[in-house]
Amino acid sequence: MTFDPETTTFLIAGPVRIHPRVLRAMSMPSVNHRGEFFHGVVREIRELLPVLFGARGHQVILSGSGTAGLEAVYSGLVPTDGRTLVVSNGNFGQRTDALVRRISSHVTTLSAPWGQPLPTDAVLAELARGDVRAVCLVHNETSVGLVNDLASIAPAVRDSGALFLVDGVSAVAGIPLPIEAWGIDAVVAGSQKGLAAPAGLALVHLSDRAVAALQPRAFYLDLARHLKAIEKNDTPWTPAVPLFLALREALLLLREEGLDQRLARTHALAEATRAAVDALGLELFPERRWASDTVTAIRNPAGMGDAEIRKVLERDYNVLVQGGQEALVGKIFRIGHMGIASWPDLLAVFAGLERILAKAGRLPAPGASLRALVERMP
Ligand code: PLP
Repeated sequence: MTFDPETTTFLIAGPVRIHPRVLRAMSMPSVNHRGEFFHGVVREIRELLPVLFGARGHQVILSGSGTAGLEAVYSGLVPTDGRTLVVSNGNFGQRTDALVRRISSHVTTLSAPWGQPLPTDAVLAELARGDVRAVCLVHNETSVGLVNDLASIAPAVRDSGALFLVDGVSAVAGIPLPIEAWGIDAVVAGSQKGLAAPAGLALVHLSDRAVAALQPRAFYLDLARHLKAIEKNDTPWTPAVPLFLALREALLLLREEGLDQRLARTHALAEATRAAVDALGLELFPERRWASDTVTAIRNPAGMGDAEIRKVLERDYNVLVQGGQEALVGKIFRIGHMGIASWPDLLAVFAGLERILAKAGRLPAPGASLRALVERMP
């Protein structure tokens, strides 16, 4: 069977499967982006964004992928005359570092090996030195399937007075992120992850003090300009109209389900995935305690390459999962289970994996991973 995007079990680490309602919402003739209809769409999205972030604040939609949102935040908020702390333990942490270094030359980077937890003590020690003006890090490190323990540093970041700037691209609407309780100043979400909208939009949440600190260093991505426009249900530049239509529908679906319920469902799918991985005799890549609820990273079975496993999953079972990135190519594979991922999706993946391992003579207990899933189904 060749890959069929209409029917595939699509579980890469984002973009994720899109609900037919969201797909249909996007299929409209061109509309006037300065007309009443589209102003109504932007107004509705603006009213729905607090459902996504679980917080009220200053929130904008940028036409551009998650990285555009990150560039908007860092170019607007990373100070050029004070020290910025970047924490990195994966591919996206490394990208944060590269991005922030384009803006400031006073950057201290604390790196942990990919997949290791946040170096909390080192972060606290840097903050205690007293001259950190911004802290930038990734909440959910998609590349290694690991969630960073922001709660362990949030009080110290707040006490330090530094701006707390968080890449929430693969966390928002998938992993609890109490923006207000943790005193976070900026969060960037990607449309193609927990929200299950098409790729191509970045959603940005800003605190009052972040808005007050904004510097107009970018033009297209000038957040102050976007904020001013959205107050009038408008956008500063021509927006990605079909994506805005899809975003509105994806937000409506999220509101219908409820953010807490989506987080709980994503957590249940993640727990079941981890149990099924155990039952296959495979190993998670990060320490279990920090394993992400939106993407599970699994070490390759001994003596087997993930490229071949993924090829057979796709060719014979119409199932898509993802390999590793950069240094982890050929070492891990990743299953995304965020957005509208479902129990039948997981059953399809693990049925395929069971068959592949069985044929290779490496399946410890036939049916055990499927039982682990079924036992955890609601
Ligand atoms: N940050 C994280 C944690 C991500 O997972 C991704 C994409 O997967 C990005 C940033 C980059 O987002 P985009 O590819 O939408 O620009």
